[in-house]
Amino acid sequence: MDFADSPEQAEFRQEVEAFFDQHFPEELKVSDDADPRTEGRSAARGDRADGMKKWRAALVEKGWIAPAWPKEYGGANLSTMEQFILNETIAERGAPRVGVPDVGSTIMVHGTDEQKKEFLPPMVRGETRWCQGYSEPGSGSDLASLQTRAIRDGDDFIVNGQKIWTSGAHVANMIFALVRTDPEAPKHRGITYLLFPMDTPGVSVRPLVQMNDASGFNETFFEDVRVPVRNAVGEINRGWYVGATHLDFERSSIGSAVGQRKMLDTLKDYLVRQRDAGSGITRLGQKDAPRLEFADRYIEANVAKTLSQRVISMQARGLIPNYEASMTKVFATEFNQRIARTATKMLGMYGEVRADKEHDGKYAPMGGRWATMYLSSVSSTIAGGTSEIQRNVIATRGLGLPRG
Ligand SMILES: Cc1cc2nc3c(=O)[nH]c(=O)nc-3n(C[C@H](O)[C@H](O)[C@H](O)COP(=O)(O)OP(=O)(O)OC[C@H]3O[C@@H](n4cnc5c(N)ncnc54)[C@H](O)[C@@H]3O)c2cc1C
Repeated sequence: MDFADSPEQAEFRQEVEAFFDQHFPEELKVSDDADPRTEGRSAARGDRADGMKKWRAALVEKGWIAPAWPKEYGGANLSTMEQFILNETIAERGAPRVGVPDVGSTIMVHGTDEQKKEFLPPMVRGETRWCQGYSEPGSGSDLASLQTRAIRDGDDFIVNGQKIWTSGAHVANMIFALVRTDPEAPKHRGITYLLFPMDTPGVSVRPLVQMNDASGFNETFFEDVRVPVRNAVGEINRGWYVGATHLDFERSSIGSAVGQRKMLDTLKDYLVRQRDAGSGITRLGQKDAPRLEFADRYIEANVAKTLSQRVISMQARGLIPNYEASMTKVFATEFNQRIARTATKMLGMYGEVRADKEHDGKYAPMGGRWATMYLSSVSSTIAGGTSEIQRNVIATRGLGLPRG
């Protein structure tokens, strides 16, 4: 891979920078200068919501919500490298990522023209919010054992069963679900990938509360849910392979290496400013052990970037990364946990203070983001397939080792 921009890529990078200068709203810029003992984050919640609206509108206008998609579906037809430049700039500017869910990329690969026309443009405009119906109480890592049943009835399927850990189901208006359409077939066959609205009669959602007090995921129940057969993506009974494409997209996009490097830079700048201001907050950060750890995190940021570049260069050549996506996923998510641990150590006792609806954040450095990340990053090595499962993929498909 050539790491330097070609003249065309350099020109595109300038276009992206100019777009940011013109359209990235003030309300979304977060100040890290604030001393946690006196000030909080820069913009109030309402201002940020306004900023997000403006930001999304500017990206939609440009086709940069789904930059690689054809223009007819709301994209901008960008090459893989141009997308990479755009994502890099988004991370470097600390801008929120507004993209399409991985189900969109999956429909783009396996969907019919009618499905693309029906489901993709509303995704780009932010009118649909999707959740993912993979896991079931007895089927997580061994996903192919899933039991949710869909029985054909004329032009419809009738779906019965339960999903679990459905992130965002309580706010989503659409779901994709893997369902069993042929119980007689071997378990990886006989599965179909179905799309349907969350307000279809028979769908109900029960929230699950996590250790960080948020309730991001849910149990989702289906009772005689009628879904048109035309909403199956790919061939009926071949949905396992559609779901696998989806997971490859999800695994390669989890954790942005540039964003992780940016997080370290932001922490480093903060520590330097606090030290210069004579603040006691950074006392621990000046000790040897956390400093050496911090240096390790910088080395790892470069490893993460190289792994991402490998996935991107494969995509640019029209290849679908598989065990390479698993390598990126394992490294990025475990790296996130190490960043959170190192950051909380460097900030001493302050690093453990959170800012949320119950804690005013007066003593929380940088808006309490490290304590929050410390808690929330735990789950990232489970979501989208656990680290053990990713290592199995790398061992068998990447290294050709025999299955256990
Ligand atoms: C934050 C978060 C968000 C999620 N969002 C969604 C969502 O939106 N939709 C959805 O469908 N699911 C979602 N999930 C569920 C997630 O996909 C599953 O939790 C995950 O696949 C693991 O399944 P499990 O929890 O049933 O654990 P299990 O499969 O029961 O695994 C338990 C333990 O055994 C290990 N193990 C299992 N099999 C093997 C093996 N063959 N070799 C070695 N070790 C093994 C696992 O690594 C794990 O440590 C989410 C999970 C999290 C944490």
